[in-house]
Amino acid sequence: MDFARDWRPQEHLELSKNIRTLESVEGALSPHIKDLEYFNEWIRRQRPKRYSKKSLVVDEHLIYVPYHYDANGCGIYFRIGNLWRDFHIFINLAYSAFENSRILWVLADESDTQALKLRRLYKNPKSLVCSLFIEYIVFHYAHGIAHHVFEDVAFLLETMKKGKYSLVKSDEEEEYCRYVAFSTLEKYMPGVLARSKKAERLISIFYPMIPKFEWRRVESINFATTKLL
Ligand SMILES: [Zn+2]
Repeated sequence: MDFARDWRPQEHLELSKNIRTLESVEGALSPHIKDLEYFNEWIRRQRPKRYSKKSLVVDEHLIYVPYHYDANGCGIYFRIGNLWRDFHIFINLAYSAFENSRILWVLADESDTQALKLRRLYKNPKSLVCSLFIEYIVFHYAHGIAHHVFEDVAFLLETMKKGKYSLVKSDEEEEYCRYVAFSTLEKYMPGVLARSKKAERLISIFYPMIPKFEWRRVESINFATTKLL
């Protein structure tokens, strides 16, 4: 915790070669880029005390459009600019952490095998970026899905006339979504994420941002990323 608090964003040139700028991949991403007309207005608003059929969920990394609000435009929208800037900082934090043998040991849960894995990735920035990328994206995706589940549960209760969307205050919903994101990432068994259809679908959208993204480079290091995140 002290290490993360005292760390000042710095750029490791070894890493920069392994990610592209957003501007340079906008063309490749354009089939997936959607800016709904009401987004601009919503990102300026304060978070409501409770989400409802009249509100969007606006988080730093994503916007969740409830089907209660817009049945045609509903879904999870990643805020690609924010996400990419944050990922950039995140990989640099991870790299600095792996540079420090004491911190690396903590991130590895004091396991020799896991420490070896992290050291190996540290020496291979291309694989490091691919591995961090998958887990970072899945972490935020899990948060968005949790918002969706909150809406579904409320919808079920609405059909039974036993409640109304949203069932809880927005602060409580956010806390729970964060909890879901951490526990989802933490529970993946080694290798499972790299074989999952869900991860494959997400990466099929985002891969242009990583030059020469390759699944064979991906290592499971969720024991460390959960702590770094
Ligand atoms: Zn949220």
